[in-house]
Amino acid sequence: MAGWPALTPLITRVGRPLVIEALRAWVEAKRGTGEVADETACAGWCAARLAGLAEPSQRRVFNLTGTVLHTNLGRALLAEEAIAAAATAMRSPTTLEYDLLGGARGERDDHIAPWLKRLTGAEAATAVNNNAAAVLLVLAALAAGREVIVSRGELIEIGGAFRIPDIMKQAGCRLVEVGTTNRTHLKDYAAAIGPETAAIMKVHPSNYAIAGFTKSVTAAELVPLARDKGLPVIEDLGSGTLVDLETWGLPHEPTAREAIEAGIDVVTFSGDKLLGGPQAGLLVGRQELIGRIAKHPLKRALRLDKVRLAALEATLRLYGDPPRLIERLPTVRALARPAAEVRVVAERLLPVVATALSGEARVAIEPVRGQIGSGALPVDLLASFAIAVRGKGLDRLAAAFRRLPIPVIGRISDGTLYFDLRTLDDEAAFVAQMDKLDVMA
Ligand SMILES: *Cc1c(COP(=O)(O)O)cnc(C)c1O
Repeated sequence: MAGWPALTPLITRVGRPLVIEALRAWVEAKRGTGEVADETACAGWCAARLAGLAEPSQRRVFNLTGTVLHTNLGRALLAEEAIAAAATAMRSPTTLEYDLLGGARGERDDHIAPWLKRLTGAEAATAVNNNAAAVLLVLAALAAGREVIVSRGELIEIGGAFRIPDIMKQAGCRLVEVGTTNRTHLKDYAAAIGPETAAIMKVHPSNYAIAGFTKSVTAAELVPLARDKGLPVIEDLGSGTLVDLETWGLPHEPTAREAIEAGIDVVTFSGDKLLGGPQAGLLVGRQELIGRIAKHPLKRALRLDKVRLAALEATLRLYGDPPRLIERLPTVRALARPAAEVRVVAERLLPVVATALSGEARVAIEPVRGQIGSGALPVDLLASFAIAVRGKGLDRLAAAFRRLPIPVIGRISDGTLYFDLRTLDDEAAFVAQMDKLDVMA
């Protein structure tokens, strides 16, 4: 290699080990071809092979799918305050588990528990890796080896292999199903309670809706029964929110405070769904139960790192001033964005996209319905506007948008490629790269 100066720039760029790896692959590829080894050609071959490594694998994209909290595209975007707090925690030592006053060991939950208590009215709070972990932990800590009662209407799968019956098994609990898919009554729960019962669990149906002849038991109905039998009621709120979405003209989604006020003993919800923070699973509820949960060995395995705790604390702090959330939290901003405002963006961008497609497809502005995503309010409801692209080879057109420097992800339905502009926050960057659209490649 020392004798092959053509490789030097590549070594400088990516380092020697990767160039050696590429050279080995080159030798393998050329074996038996009878080609004469040519230094420049080899360097070019290796550079092409290593080009992919220069790009990060996880890249920024434009989410124009119409789903605001898109799980595959990373869910919530964080507030600037949370980004700054996370960056500080990454760069410097912090008081993660350190009490400055006493100069002694502190608790990592102390950074977020006071906020969660204030914002939900709960006695105590803790946090773990995500809501799936929160559900696993609460079941393992409060009900391992015993029975947990759940309505058949709430035995959900929310994607990514999160199924309530499987989580129960992993937590070491026995699932006792009550009622039917569409109707469960209080007497069904009452009849299922026995000496082995450890808890009653409610699960927010999240990504599906049961319509028609239905009956489910509310927390307010369930709690007196559970109290009478000395059992805790736990609820997986799923998306969960800390503020009433009706404030911004959106339909109601249960808040953590409502669940606590209804008497639920432990409530779990996600940090990166409607809350608009980093990935986390939040647990709020009765002091004695949260104490047991926090002491369980799984808590140590599922705990949050300092970076996410910093981002979460900063996000929760924003909730101290709800009227300003709309300007500070990108998730709330996107959800509350009026359709008329999105339409104005669409009108500005239509000629830009039309020019970039240079007659390869027809484009128009059309009203569409987007979704919150991540399980909240599953029925399409966010009135919005999209640039609709129609023409031959829609998949090829969609692929061209995905090849842009900042890939643009749309949604194909009914023979149309839609770019819902509700979630376009950086219009300038979108426009600046449009001349690179190459539908011919
Ligand atoms: C999203 C969701 C979960 C999983 O939450 P993660 O934070 O993604 O782990 C669990 N239960 C319900 C009802 C949900 O909607």
